Amino acid sequence: MKSKEFIEILCKECEKQNINISQNQAEKLNMYKELLIQWNEKMNLTAITDEYDIIVKHFVDCLMCTKIIKDEKNIIDVGTGAGFPGMVLAIYYEDKEFTLLDALNKRLVFLQEVVNTLKLKNVHIIHGRAEEVARKEEYREKFDATVSRAVAQLPILLEYTSPFIKVNGRCIVMKGDSVQDEIKISSNALNVLKLKLKNTFEYMYTVNNEEYHRYILTIEKNMCTPTKYPRNYGQIKKKTL
Ligand code: SAM
Repeated sequence: MKSKEFIEILCKECEKQNINISQNQAEKLNMYKELLIQWNEKMNLTAITDEYDIIVKHFVDCLMCTKIIKDEKNIIDVGTGAGFPGMVLAIYYEDKEFTLLDALNKRLVFLQEVVNTLKLKNVHIIHGRAEEVARKEEYREKFDATVSRAVAQLPILLEYTSPFIKVNGRCIVMKGDSVQDEIKISSNALNVLKLKLKNTFEYMYTVNNEEYHRYILTIEKNMCTPTKYPRNYGQIKKKTL
């Protein structure tokens, strides 16, 4: 697909969801897509390779977080992978700082290339496991919000993410069809981690006549995370909250 066509379709798909993007933001997303496709040939970054699918299932999907994000200035994407949703949001919000965290270093090499090529000034990349990084003083309770998509089941994800946010900060969690089941098994995690589920935002998109129902949970932190959390990976897996 030529750049012009990609940008036109991207803008049209954003319009369908009432998302305003500028020409400059669309051009940057087009450059990001080109790098994604190019690098995906040599490393496993995404299973979604069709350009229309990249527009809808990656870019517009991640941009749906703009319906939720408000005054937050300092946001961490936990388990960012190839930059979803964090890199897309960093391109959208030049005035907010984004930290992209992942345990897999090779994906971070790709993200650094995107930062360099697009000359992004608001992106910080960290290599590490969330449950280890969240125990370091420089990152613990330092962020206004976390964002995450397709990283872990909700009780585990909340243990990974909530220690990063300040009191009154928010975990913004993107989920698919399993959302209700995941909420059901999360009451203990919410309680132990001093969190409250505030809102479930639902949206839908269609690709090839197939409907995709998606959800963004907003979870607030009322008190400091007990120092015991997050536990190490073995304990989290063995005795999930
Ligand atoms: N968020 C991206 C997306 O929606 O396309 C990537 C999803 S991918 C299925 C899950 C990513 O989370 C992987 O890149 C993996 O390395 C990362 N991940 C899983 N557990 C993690 C942890 N405990 N700490 C840091 N990264 C983690």
